[in-house]
Amino acid sequence: MTRALRSEFTLFVLGLSIALIVGWIEGHFIAVPALFVFGYLARHLYYSWHLLAWSYGKQRDLPEGNGLWAEIFHRLRLQQRHHRRRKRHLAKMLSSFRQATEALPDAAVVLTAGFEIEWFNKAAAHLLGLKSQDKWMRIDNLLRHPGFVDYLQQGKFAQPITLHAPNRDNVQLEVRVVPYVPDRYLLLAQDVTQIRLLERQRRDFVAHVSHELRTPLTVIKGYLETLMDTEAAVAPPFRPLLQRMDDQLRRLQYLIDDLLYLSRLETVQNKPGSIQPVDVEQLLEDILGEIDQLKEPHAPVELRIESPTLLLGNAQELRSAFTNLIVNAVKYTPPTGTITVRWYANAQGACLEVADTGPGIPAEHIPRLTERFYRVPGSELHNPTGTGLGLAIVKHVLNRHQGSLEIQSRLGQGSTFRCRFPAERTVQPHVSTAAS
Ligand code: ADP
Repeated sequence: MTRALRSEFTLFVLGLSIALIVGWIEGHFIAVPALFVFGYLARHLYYSWHLLAWSYGKQRDLPEGNGLWAEIFHRLRLQQRHHRRRKRHLAKMLSSFRQATEALPDAAVVLTAGFEIEWFNKAAAHLLGLKSQDKWMRIDNLLRHPGFVDYLQQGKFAQPITLHAPNRDNVQLEVRVVPYVPDRYLLLAQDVTQIRLLERQRRDFVAHVSHELRTPLTVIKGYLETLMDTEAAVAPPFRPLLQRMDDQLRRLQYLIDDLLYLSRLETVQNKPGSIQPVDVEQLLEDILGEIDQLKEPHAPVELRIESPTLLLGNAQELRSAFTNLIVNAVKYTPPTGTITVRWYANAQGACLEVADTGPGIPAEHIPRLTERFYRVPGSELHNPTGTGLGLAIVKHVLNRHQGSLEIQSRLGQGSTFRCRFPAERTVQPHVSTAAS
């Protein structure tokens, strides 16, 4: 930059000096230098005019120029070339992005901060029935499903929502809204009709099989009890076999009960009125009362109620989840150990904690404990009638209450299970709350 300026300055000084000398020789000491300065200014005006015309887009190319102007025009031409290349590259990227989104089998819609449709792909036109004239209309004016309107209004987009496709009740869509820049949302909708159908078929199958198994099992158990009660019916060496058959039958019955309960949790929506403020202290006292009736010796259970907070939920479901955790602690902890059940609350929410000094669980098994039928190898020694479904039930119940299960355990030192509930699920005892 300085070199171009320096040579322009040299050009001016040299030109002016020559004009002065010529003016002095010719006897026009003022006129010749003035002519030179006029010419110099005219050159600048000429190139400035070109620059202005070019910047207004009235002129496509810049002239070659000379001196300082040659350098200015050269730099501008380089920048222009660079920008053209960048523009071509961006246009190519945009077109391949558009082609990719057009090829997506899922609907994609770009929404403004006010949920107006800015752009959508072909699948959106097909699945959501959008037309080109719907651009800049609010999406909730076109998808009028009340659940979807609520979903947009609440603005809690962490979970997707399932809706029927507009004008096609047999098509189910899973819709997800993703905020991707401060004033834009991406709405994605996927056809989940087949997946939902398969899920329902699986649930129905498990529920039917479990239900059908119940009757023959009750009959077998009845006969077995008769045999066990009639001394003359079975020779003494075979009596232990009957006892083992009875144990396995009991396990089968627990298994069927748990499977039926799980499929009920998966299918049944909470009825209005089944959600109410649950007195957790009373609930835990009832559960511990039942545990005390157990015939086998077990570790003592200490109950610590550290907050009077009530929990907004389904009392029956919560009872089943808490019972599963406490019964597990009782089954897996030796009678010499201790079990502590705590209920406490803070600004973040409330928590039920069941801590034991039992055998603990190896770290690699912890992430899989809530899977159906998952049991840590060797668990049958502590809990021979266990089904591996208890913690799956706990997880399901907690999901239905927006809660989460936290498991901490150390081998040989014990385990702690925490059911955490969000603050929206807690109610202070003196505040009367309408059932949700
Ligand atoms: P199960 O009927 O086998 O107890 P669960 O789903 O309730 O099934 O528990 C899954 C597995 O988690 C159990 O088989 C056991 O290995 C482990 N487990 C659960 N609770 C405890 C506990 N308090 N202490 C040690 N292991 C536990």
